[in-house]
Amino acid sequence: MARVNGEMVVAIDGPSGSGKSSTSRMVATRLGLAHLDTGSMYRALACAVSRAGINPQDEPDRVIDLAGSADIRVDTRPGYDTVVINGVDVTEEIRDPRTSARVSAVATIPQVRVLLVERMRDIVERNDRRIVVEGRDITTVVCPDAQVRVLLVADPAVRMARRARELGDDVDQTQMHDQIVRRDRDDATVSQFETPAPGVTLIDSTSLDLDEVVARVVALTEQVG
Ligand code: C5P
Repeated sequence: MARVNGEMVVAIDGPSGSGKSSTSRMVATRLGLAHLDTGSMYRALACAVSRAGINPQDEPDRVIDLAGSADIRVDTRPGYDTVVINGVDVTEEIRDPRTSARVSAVATIPQVRVLLVERMRDIVERNDRRIVVEGRDITTVVCPDAQVRVLLVADPAVRMARRARELGDDVDQTQMHDQIVRRDRDDATVSQFETPAPGVTLIDSTSLDLDEVVARVVALTEQVG
């Protein structure tokens, strides 16, 4: 598989369980690009907020302060998902269902988004704009000028089944419902997935496997110069 030379920003948006993380990691590996999971930054902030005993609903200003001041380090090598905030390695904690349940309250504070979007763009630049960036508003807000912009969607039932496989056998149905449906609803103010923005390619992964989705995204990178 050909590595790309020069600038190549691949922006991939999608809801939880759409397959965007696996897709992004594989596309980055195949093309020799860095990989930024922007959800992990919001998740890391949610962990720091909870450790500081802050209630985001009651004390949004403290969350904004933390979003501006926290030292957030994400490893952008594909497959290395380490996330450290203020010296605390939260790589595992960010995947805990309790973090998933808390993250929207932090991510829907507009000033928090402004501060994190700035950091994301900085990471894109520091990687010489050779990077796959995944999230909810990458194609529209963070990198609207990306060479490739994809909205990855899938039916909610398929997304739930995928998340259940990730979480293992002892998955609690209520927790899963919370992970998928409630978070979609809570995030609706910052992201909507019904229609792609102009110039964004819609890929519906409901009946595609991972290799097929990756092949489609790679094909899009080959179409741009
Ligand atoms: O992608 P992931 O499901 O890990 O994202 C976790 C949460 O982070 C989302 O539910 C959303 O609240 C927030 N998020 C966001 N904008 C992004 C990425 C994630 O608001 N670009």
